[in-house]
Amino acid sequence: MDNLWQIVLDDLEPSLPHATFITWFKPTEQLSSSPDKLIIKVSNVFAKTQFEKKFDPIIKTSLKKNNLNIKHIDYVVKSTTPKKPSERSVSEEITTITKSAIAKKPTIDTGLNPRYTFDNFVVGSNNDLAVAACQAAVKNPGTKYNPIFLYGGVGLGKTHLMQAVGNEILKLNPSTKVLYTTIEQFYNEFIDMVRFKRGEKSFSEKYRSVDVLIVDDMQFITGKEKSQESFFHTFNDLHQKNRQIIISSDRHPREISTLEDRLKSRFEMGMIIDIQMPDFETRCAIIKAKASLSGTELPDDTTEWLANHYKSNIRELEGSLNHLLAWCEMRGYQPDASTAEGLLGEATRAPIPKHLTPKQIIEKTARYFQITVKEICSPDRSKNIVEPRQIAMYLLRNELGLSYPAISKELSRKDHTTAMHSVEKMTKEIKFNYLLREQISEIRERLYA
Ligand code: ADP
Ligand code: MG
Repeated sequence: MDNLWQIVLDDLEPSLPHATFITWFKPTEQLSSSPDKLIIKVSNVFAKTQFEKKFDPIIKTSLKKNNLNIKHIDYVVKSTTPKKPSERSVSEEITTITKSAIAKKPTIDTGLNPRYTFDNFVVGSNNDLAVAACQAAVKNPGTKYNPIFLYGGVGLGKTHLMQAVGNEILKLNPSTKVLYTTIEQFYNEFIDMVRFKRGEKSFSEKYRSVDVLIVDDMQFITGKEKSQESFFHTFNDLHQKNRQIIISSDRHPREISTLEDRLKSRFEMGMIIDIQMPDFETRCAIIKAKASLSGTELPDDTTEWLANHYKSNIRELEGSLNHLLAWCEMRGYQPDASTAEGLLGEATRAPIPKHLTPKQIIEKTARYFQITVKEICSPDRSKNIVEPRQIAMYLLRNELGLSYPAISKELSRKDHTTAMHSVEKMTKEIKFNYLLREQISEIRERLYA
């Protein structure tokens, strides 16, 4: 039987967030394949719905891309229920015992990807604080900053940095027990344990015996009481024993609405640090570092072209760099800015709908906040007018690429530095102010509706 599923896994791994891949895809297995159907084993009911509802389309696309004409995929949950002891033979019993004795010997799967190290993590003003805290945790795990809570937008290096801590600690002291997991994976294991009414001991043993616990994507914590309680107790237990805990999320704990207050306050006991978007210099440094890892020295104009076109997500930046390098290598070309423009330019140009005008942005922003256009363009400095005005400026800049003097003119401001400061302020604030992010994305939706 061909392992068609492996082809899909290999195809999807590089394009999916690492945490998604290890949580959902890694525990799967192909059970059978026929010319038009695949049967895939997934770990639990929760995973089954994720696959059916969320991942099925990308999996089908991947099959198609690999010329596999499979129309249907069944995701099945299968547990390997152990036989009752009375049904086992003595020799079976012995093998089980020896096997479990061997299994108890450490070598727990750390969940770490050895690719994520400090060596290949570029430090810039956007992440220097986070790096410093993480290095302190490497030196003195569990004593200085505990927990460390990293938050920031997608693709900004949170997973990389947390895993670098785990890898470095293991390098310095190979007997340390490090465990990387996502909150979803933690939940899945907890649900399995409850569902099959077994494994309770090994579940808590696994989590409570670690020296360093790294938990990714905390924003996916759900309101489910029991599992949240289980995480709370695991956290407390480790924290009391001075075991290092590192957590990441795409937003501040305060902004995670599903997170219980008692966990929020536990997280506040430690160090909460944000990772921001890298500035131009840092982006250039990252590009150079990544290119040299693949043995290429990029000319400055190409580096700068990339740094100018990918500002908010390093994963995308990296993907495009790899695309460019592979394309050039296959043709024996030297990468340069015009090749980059030709290959990637189209995709990076945000489509500006022809109908969208500055006036519409101002109108829709004003309407969203239930104020008038006259007010938004007036000298009024009251809070409920200033905020919408700043958001309008931010949108004029980001949606239409207007210059600061043009923005000032549209909003009847005299001085263009106000527009500049407002846009800068919004750009910063949007990263940690979840409400603001929501508001802006709702206005955007209305603009493009
Ligand atoms: P997040 O978890 O914040 O979504 P990741 O840690 O998955 O982001 O990072 C996305 C990609 O960008 C990874 O391949 C990572 O190696 C790379 N990356 C992010 N920040 C840096 C950095 N400062 N230096 C080098 N690579 C980085
Ligand atoms: Mg991540």
